[in-house]
Amino acid sequence: MNYERIKEKLEILADAAKYDVSCSSSGSKRQNKNKGLGDSSGMGICHTYTEDGRCVSLLKILLTNVCIFDCAYCVTRKSNDIKRAAFTVQEVVDLTINFYRRNYIEGLFLSSGIFKSPDATMERLIRVAKKLREEENFNGYIHLKSIPGASDELMQEAGLYADRLSVNIEIPTKEGLKLLAPDKDHKDFIKPMKAVQNSIQIYKSEKKLIKNTPIYAPAGQSTQMIVGATGESDRDIMYSANFFYNKFQMKRVYYSGYIPVANDSRLPAIGTEVPMMRENRLYQTDWLLRFYGFNIQEILNESHLNLDMDIDPKLSWALRNLDQFPVDINKADKRMIARVPGIGMKSVGKILSARRYRKLNWEHLKAIGISMNRSKYFLTCNSREFETRDLTSAKIKSLIMLNSKSKYRKNFNYQLNLFS
Ligand code: SF4
Repeated sequence: MNYERIKEKLEILADAAKYDVSCSSSGSKRQNKNKGLGDSSGMGICHTYTEDGRCVSLLKILLTNVCIFDCAYCVTRKSNDIKRAAFTVQEVVDLTINFYRRNYIEGLFLSSGIFKSPDATMERLIRVAKKLREEENFNGYIHLKSIPGASDELMQEAGLYADRLSVNIEIPTKEGLKLLAPDKDHKDFIKPMKAVQNSIQIYKSEKKLIKNTPIYAPAGQSTQMIVGATGESDRDIMYSANFFYNKFQMKRVYYSGYIPVANDSRLPAIGTEVPMMRENRLYQTDWLLRFYGFNIQEILNESHLNLDMDIDPKLSWALRNLDQFPVDINKADKRMIARVPGIGMKSVGKILSARRYRKLNWEHLKAIGISMNRSKYFLTCNSREFETRDLTSAKIKSLIMLNSKSKYRKNFNYQLNLFS
C-alpha cells in the first residue's frame, strides 16, 4: 500500500464528504501542541446516532469525487476545477478495518460522486459493504448512500449489508432542481427511496414468518435537503420534508444550509452563507411536527411563509394564538400542555404523572424543570399569580427576550410604553 497516496486520497475524499450532513457531524482539525494527548486531523471522522440512541463515530468519505453530473450547488460537479481522486474497493475496506482496530471509528459512512453511471457507482458501494460484512466479518455501523437512478435490484442488495441508506433529495422543490441540476430528474431520487421502503416492509413481514430472514437496513433511510440555494420558503421546505416522512417513512430529514461554492448567477453569491439559525429553526419545526402534534399549516402558512429567526417556532405560534391560552396545567390535555412554550415532551410526561397526586403550583413546575421565562405567560396553575394579565403578544415577546440569552435580545426595546 502506498501510504502517501492513500493519505492524499483521504484528504481529498474526506473533505469532499463534509458537505453531506445526512450523518450528523464532521471531524475537526486540532494539532497536538506541547506533547498533549491525541491529535485530530481534518480527515473525515463524524458522529451519528444509532437506533438505540448510541452516538457512534464514523469514517466519512467519498468513494470518488469524480462525477459525470454538473449540479451547480456541488463542489464535486464535473465543471469544477478541483483535484480528483478515487479509492478502490479494497482501499476503503482496509481503511475501515484499520481505523476500527485502532478504535478511531465504530463504522463507515460511504458516499460517492457518480462515475460512469448510477448503477456502476452503486454496485461499487455495495461491494465495499459486502466485503466488510462477508470477508472481514465487520459488524460495525455502515451508512451507504443510495445513488439517484440506481436499479431496484441494487437497492435491494444494498440494504442487506448497510444499516442505513440515504438518498439526498438536495433541492427541496422540483423547480429548483430543474434550475440547478438540469441533468437530474426528481424521479431518480424517488425510485431508490421506494425500492428501499418496499424492501424494508417485505423483509419485516417475512421475518415474522421465517426467523432466519436477513435484517434489511435496520436503521431505515434518511435524506438531506440543501437550504437556501434556491429561493424556496421555509414553508416549501417543510412541506417537502413532510412528504418524505409520510410517503417513505424516513427516519430523519436533514437540513443543510447552502455554502456558496460557485460564482453562478443562479446561486447566492460567495460569502452569503445561510445563517446557522435557519437550520436550527427548521430542525425545531421538524421536531414540533413529529413529536408535538403540530401540523404545518399552524406554523407556516400564507401569512407566515418563513420561520422567525429571533424566537423559536413554538413560541412564535403561541404568540400568534394567544386566544388558546392560558392553559390550566392541572386540567389541560397532553396536546395543549405540549403547546406551551418552554415545556418539552419529557416535562409533559412528568406533569401528567405528578398531577395525579397533587395540584401543581409554580414551585412544582420549577422543580419539574420547565422554562419559567417562556412558559409563565401561557399557563395557570394552583397559584394565584397569572403572568399574562392583559399583555399583548408584542409585550410578552419583549419580556421573554429581556430575560433570554438569545443573541437577538439586543434588537428589543425593553422599555414598555405606558399606553402600548
Ligand atoms: S450528482 Fe451528486 S456528486 Fe455529482 S455533482 Fe450532483 S450532487 Fe454532486
